[in-house]
Amino acid sequence: MLTRFAPSPTGPLHLGHAYSALTVWRVAQELGGTALLRIEDFDTQRCRPEYERAIYDDLRWLGLDWPAPVRRSSDHLAEYDAVLDALAARGLLYPCSCSRRDIVAAGAEVGWDGPVYPGTCRHRPLEDARPGDALRLDLARALAAIDRPLAFTEIGPLHPGTHLIDPAELVARSGDPVLRRSGNGDPAYHLGAPHDDALQGITHVVRGADLWRATFLHVVLQALMGWPTPSYHHHDLIRDASGKRLAKINAATALASYRAEGLTPTDIRKLVGL
Ligand code: GLU
Repeated sequence: MLTRFAPSPTGPLHLGHAYSALTVWRVAQELGGTALLRIEDFDTQRCRPEYERAIYDDLRWLGLDWPAPVRRSSDHLAEYDAVLDALAARGLLYPCSCSRRDIVAAGAEVGWDGPVYPGTCRHRPLEDARPGDALRLDLARALAAIDRPLAFTEIGPLHPGTHLIDPAELVARSGDPVLRRSGNGDPAYHLGAPHDDALQGITHVVRGADLWRATFLHVVLQALMGWPTPSYHHHDLIRDASGKRLAKINAATALASYRAEGLTPTDIRKLVGL
């Protein structure tokens, strides 16, 4: 049993991260496995080395430990390019130059995670890619190329059981995901996370319920690339008294601020309800 905590070093860790990390290590312990730390710094514009260092400090302070070396996604960019090349060779990618505003202006439906890409650029051949274009997966084509049912097992408390993915619903509610980001061509989360999970032999993915729908897309990538589908455990999210997700609140909830105020790791466990 191998699981992972995969923060992106785009800011200080807050209470929501502490809850997630503590849950990852708890599940690993309960199942007699190991928890890895992975630094998901795909987004080279927003990730910073000082935030990465702070992740190590905060997690050690919480009493967590992990095997070395830690995988840092940005050290492996060629691996993500190789996956993109494989998908491109199967005719499953197309270049996209649409901005968020273009997508909304094109009358996008609201799907599971915001506006569903309306397919404006889907007809464009890859040879037509311009510098700075994103690359999207043609989801309907990809699904047509998969000849087994798409499913995953959830072991978390929120939706336990086996979940069959309905391809038509996925196309309608999710839309063609970006696999290479626009601008400087960073790998997108929906490419990097399932790739790294497969490469590292992750058997159980423990992460927040905000990524529930991301899992549906990751199962598609796994089927396309012949990667195994791990079990999933989506945990609930820590909210403040008004019901707002902590990730959306300000730095007042940064673990480092609590440390500076003299709180102990035990206090943090209590604060997040563990
Ligand atoms: N890097 C992602 C985040 O910080 C983690 C996603 C995952 O665990 O798959 O939200």
